[in-house]
Amino acid sequence: MQAEFNSRFSQAVLKALEAEQISSKLIWECIVALQDLGRHNQVTLAWVPGHSGHRGNEKADEAARLGATLEFIGPEPFCGLSRSIIRSSILNRLNIQSQEWWQKIPGQRQAKLAIKGRSKRFTADLLNQERKIVRMVVGLLTGHCRLNKHMYNMRLADDDLCRFCLEEEETAVHVLCQCARLRLRIMGDPYPSPCSFMEEPLSGLKAFINESGLGAFL
Ligand SMILES: [Zn+2]
Repeated sequence: MQAEFNSRFSQAVLKALEAEQISSKLIWECIVALQDLGRHNQVTLAWVPGHSGHRGNEKADEAARLGATLEFIGPEPFCGLSRSIIRSSILNRLNIQSQEWWQKIPGQRQAKLAIKGRSKRFTADLLNQERKIVRMVVGLLTGHCRLNKHMYNMRLADDDLCRFCLEEEETAVHVLCQCARLRLRIMGDPYPSPCSFMEEPLSGLKAFINESGLGAFL
């Protein structure tokens, strides 16, 4: 038996239902439901101005008011989320997961001392540099360069001592942030600084490499 349905919508909904591109999940579900209904029934969509006193419209308003007073049952979130909120939530989660992964993976001792976490600005700065600079900076931060610690591990140097102070292991963190002799020569004070060079413009690190002569060993 075929029934006849006269469904009444606002103009906005009618336009959304007729649009070539559907961006709302609710509208899509509405179209699917109407198509299901239309398989065996005569369905007519009509625009009814709000609050016109039409019986069907009044009943829809009453049902909506009743629905708003009930507790929601179903998967959350039950209201729409903007694309930018979803995107930033995913990026934040990925950021946290990559940070946890970086700390948990075994090895990479020297790199972990120099690379504390992700830095969007430092990465963008670095990728804009010429290949030679990228190789030097990556070698320095990961310890895979001709600094004595790495060369000694590779059995290619007699010792792993810093060539500037001859007191500590010559690692990236030592020469960049802790070597009193080098810091006195370049910055005028011998005191170690926190290794925060990835939070600052890359130009500072490049200048330090040039002035220290480290470029010859990277
Ligand atoms: Zn030193």
